[in-house]
Amino acid sequence: MKMVIGGTWIDKPETIAVRNPFDGSVVDSVPRATVEDIQAAIRTARDGYEINRNLPAHRRISILLKTADIMQTRFEELAATIASEGSKTIREARKEVARAINTITISGEEARRILGETIPFDSAPGSENRVGYYYRFPIGVIAAITPFNDPLNLVAHKLGPAIAGGNSIVLKPATVTPLSALKLAECFYEAGLPGEILSVVTGYGREIGEALVRDERIRMVSFTGGVEAGKRITEIAGLKKIGMELGSNSPVIVLEDCNLEKAVSACVSGAFWAAGQNCIGVQRIYIQSSIYAKFRDVFVSLTQKYKTGPQQDETTDMGPMINEQEAIRVIDWVEDAVKKGAVLLTGGTRAGSLVQPTVLENMPSSATLACNEVFGPVVMLYPVESLEEAIAASNAVDYGLQGAIFTNDLNQAFKAIREMDVGGIIVNDSTDYRVDLMPFGGVKNSGLGREGIKFSLQEMTEPKMVCFNL
Ligand code: NAP
Repeated sequence: MKMVIGGTWIDKPETIAVRNPFDGSVVDSVPRATVEDIQAAIRTARDGYEINRNLPAHRRISILLKTADIMQTRFEELAATIASEGSKTIREARKEVARAINTITISGEEARRILGETIPFDSAPGSENRVGYYYRFPIGVIAAITPFNDPLNLVAHKLGPAIAGGNSIVLKPATVTPLSALKLAECFYEAGLPGEILSVVTGYGREIGEALVRDERIRMVSFTGGVEAGKRITEIAGLKKIGMELGSNSPVIVLEDCNLEKAVSACVSGAFWAAGQNCIGVQRIYIQSSIYAKFRDVFVSLTQKYKTGPQQDETTDMGPMINEQEAIRVIDWVEDAVKKGAVLLTGGTRAGSLVQPTVLENMPSSATLACNEVFGPVVMLYPVESLEEAIAASNAVDYGLQGAIFTNDLNQAFKAIREMDVGGIIVNDSTDYRVDLMPFGGVKNSGLGREGIKFSLQEMTEPKMVCFNL
């Protein structure tokens, strides 16, 4: 596919192959953009900002809702794109498309509700004759940088609210999964979005991503990705607003009074969704010792039923990792843990980019797996004596995106809600739960700020204060 700058589709002499992670076959190719392309995209986006901030809200709403309709007509094509450039199975990909349509629809709806409020100036002595209010205005040109694991919906989470709020955007999608983003741009243009408002520039993060982040005309960087790139971006961004949606190694607490069957199946699904390449994927499970053995045995037997294979096969439960290097890294981490004393209950092998769903127990704290984000199909089980012990262990890492607890005791649930250091808590489901309107984001190394359309809109607009001296 070509990339798009200000509505014009562009080829470049140098291209980057987009490969199917299952077998390395070439799906398509995209231009390898240069810093000059980024400059051109930002120049156009300055015009795009003037255009979008002056569009009436009803135009933005109708463009967003029409985009969602067009996505619906291209549903299967979008799902097939996700399941060929990325590692989700076709069934997982369909769920992502449905969510992305919802994300764009909610963006259209929220564009009606960008509200301000009046200010009680007369509460300050000397200001008795003042009246006024604030309203929200767009922040300007937004740079959006996205990861590979949800190549459509995480892009929709940037474009939807940015457009709803009256901004323009230059998007740099992940190099390995640019096609879904380019197809979403097609849907926007077909729905009538003026070309200047959105550019999608394909190329390497270290080359064009950094040029985008550094540029002083960019007013906000909205980033989703790993902590390493996130830290680098905060170092080089200069004076601009930053939104950071980063990784995690999410904890789930399972107490003896819960519905065990429900807890096991939710945790298995949460651990292996998208082959564990999921920022809210379950990585650490703390199980009360009285039910530990039962939980472990059922967990391992459900895991062993998982069918791995090519993403496009309707019967595949879990697809490959994004590439073979990543699969090798994950197996290295598992071997490191086993060498240090962890017990491998199932999995721990790979064929090419396909890693078998892996379950470990007795994880030593010195293992890389114990406190880093694995971002692969690997989960660790820990027995705990009490909720206090489980909360302390859950919190003993540098991440905090979502946490979960399975219990039927309200008091225990509330204790976890109060004491777990995370951006969101799920009670009686795994951490792998998200709807696109809820506030979403983390504490510690999991990020800064919140997404979820209404919340992104707050980040992507600013209050302008108006005061009348009567
Ligand atoms: P990544 O390596 O950090 O890359 C993310 C994006 O940043 C890519 O577009 C990448 O470009 C770009 N990039 C890399 N280095 C850059 C730099 N120095 N300057 C500017 N841009 C740069 O992450 P990933 O492997 O694609 O995704 C996995 C990570 O994303 C995991 O840690 C996961 O937890 C996190 N994630 C978080 C959320 C959330 O909402 N909290 C959601 C999904 C994923 P290239 O592709 O060219 O390298």
